[in-house]
Parts: sequence; C-alpha cells; structure tokens
Amino acid sequence: MITYKVICFCCKTAFLVEEGSPKYQLYKKNMNGKFACENCDHKVYLEARKGLMGKLL
Ligand SMILES: [Zn+2]
Repeated sequence: MITYKVICFCCKTAFLVEEGSPKYQLYKKNMNGKFACENCDHKVYLEARKGLMGKLL
C-alpha cells in the first residue's frame, strides 16, 4: 500500500495518507493544498458546527 507523509497545516504534525482514502484522492488532485490530520479535521468540523449553531440560536 502506498502512503504519503503530509504535514498538517493546522498543528504542523506529519501524518500518513493511505492510498484509496478520501484524503488521498484530494491529495492527488492538489498536492500543494492544505491538509489537516484526523485530529484537526475533527476540530475544524466541531468549530464549524459550533459556528453554525451560534448563527441559528
Ligand atoms: Zn493537525
């Protein structure tokens, strides 16, 4: 299996992107793009959710 080492733009930690994963597809399309690790992905998701909830309330 092919894995790529990508630096998370958020916490600057290297993480692995495995061939066939959704993130790998994104990486192949745009290797210079910004990618976040699982932790930061989750954090960003929660923040976005919180922002959305704040707007709704
Ligand atoms: Zn991160």
